Amino acid sequence: IISVSGLSKYFGDHQVLHDVSARFNRGEVVVVIGPSGSGKSTFLRCCNGLEIAEAGSINICGEWLLKDGAALAEEALNELRKHVGMVFQSFNLFPHLSVLGNVAIGPRKILGMPRDESEKLARELLAKVGLAHKAEAMPASLSGGQKQRVAIARALAMKPEVMLFDEPTSALDPELVGEVLQVMQQLAAEGMTMIVVTHEMSFAREVADVLVVMEDGRIVESGPARTIFEAPVHGRTRLLLQKVA
Ligand code: ATP
Ligand code: MG
Repeated sequence: IISVSGLSKYFGDHQVLHDVSARFNRGEVVVVIGPSGSGKSTFLRCCNGLEIAEAGSINICGEWLLKDGAALAEEALNELRKHVGMVFQSFNLFPHLSVLGNVAIGPRKILGMPRDESEKLARELLAKVGLAHKAEAMPASLSGGQKQRVAIARALAMKPEVMLFDEPTSALDPELVGEVLQVMQQLAAEGMTMIVVTHEMSFAREVADVLVVMEDGRIVESGPARTIFEAPVHGRTRLLLQKVA
């Protein structure tokens, strides 16, 4: 569903992705790990066109987001982005809209869904993330874990084919991490294709199909999660798995 080849990304003359290649299949849960500054966020942002890489190709759902370093035009990019949901570390909810409004606005404004239909969808998704009772609340009154679950519902409202998560639980108090991971685990069980940057190794162990290890802008190890957890080959992987074991 996503294939990346020869991806290189620079910020000025600092190269942050070096010839990154990967293939992810529909229904897979991919967990990306790596030290701070290794390019995990940049890689994810390239996968939905928030950053445009200078070289390489990215194909998502059969469409070329980037082909040999040439990016899709803005309009086509926006079209493609509808299929790719993203959840960030900071929840980025619209503070002036209710919880329901936050989830309903995408389908209404971007997909052109009528208001009642978008609100019905939003209520269904809020129920799915366990927040049906918070539909009328304002984001500021929610806990971090609740905000993040609203952010997940909002991304799902666009009916994405792929969900990207960039450290969705790192801004949360420890006791709120579980409720967000649980929603993600449920999504995975329903067959959603997900690429998740996280330090939560118990989540990775339980949910990941594929593990990708990044260091210095390169993928240094990738493959079936179970295999890598059992027998990590690269020194960096061993370090990362050790640190959190
Ligand atoms: P973390 O675990 O801290 O989130 P990361 O693996 O997500 O790290 P990135 O955020 O992708 O790493 O950053 C990779 C490198 O690119 C870093 O050296 C960072 O300083 C640099 N970088 C990221 N975004 C920008 C930017 N907008 N402008 C310049 N440099 C950037
Ligand atoms: Mg990051």
